[in-house]
Amino acid sequence: MASESVLHVAISGRAGRVEARVPALPVRPDPRGGYRFVDPDFGASFFPLLWDEMPLADRSGSPWARRDVCFACRATLPDDGHPERMLFGVVVPKLDPIEVDLVLPITRCASCDEPQIVERNRSVEMDLSNALVAGLDAARVRA
Ligand SMILES: [Zn+2]
Repeated sequence: MASESVLHVAISGRAGRVEARVPALPVRPDPRGGYRFVDPDFGASFFPLLWDEMPLADRSGSPWARRDVCFACRATLPDDGHPERMLFGVVVPKLDPIEVDLVLPITRCASCDEPQIVERNRSVEMDLSNALVAGLDAARVRA
């Protein structure tokens, strides 16, 4: 692997309720212009690993009366999130940890103050994915 050709570019994008910034995404220069992912598996690895880091609220109750509960103390959560900045470190095999700086709709538990994402209709996951794709497009990074 020609590791000397790895560069780092900053990407940032937003979609829906999510703002995403990756200050140093490892990429390779593309002879046709712009950049490519550092290796062909990167795209398939990165997003699921990032999503695994998200502090998702739990769901509880019967299928007819579901409610969102705190993952730490089980208190019932309100369904309103407010923008909060959170930093994550994504460990992709064979690469240094990749810092990801996000603004997400965060709900704070009234009992224990644990920040978490109350995820209805998986919209946060879609917003996060779209924000990253917007950032990749703007920086001319292709899979
Ligand atoms: Zn709690």
